[in-house]
Amino acid sequence: MKKISTHDYRVILCPFPNGVKGCVRLDSDDFASIYINQHLTAEEQRKTFEHEIRHLYHRDFSNNSSLADAEERAR
Ligand SMILES: [Zn+2]
Repeated sequence: MKKISTHDYRVILCPFPNGVKGCVRLDSDDFASIYINQHLTAEEQRKTFEHEIRHLYHRDFSNNSSLADAEERAR
């Protein structure tokens, strides 16, 4: 499995509407943007970041697993 380095992603804090903690998107060149809700506490932001990193690690964008499976793994 490919190691993820800080050259592979950037983190953007943004004001998500209620309930959304974060999400991650991959560019066509495999560079990831991790969006974190700026209204979370520092601890929640850290947990959300780790959660989104796990999606990257498991390549949940390109594998065929269901969203439920992907969320279970990333928990
Ligand atoms: Zn998730």
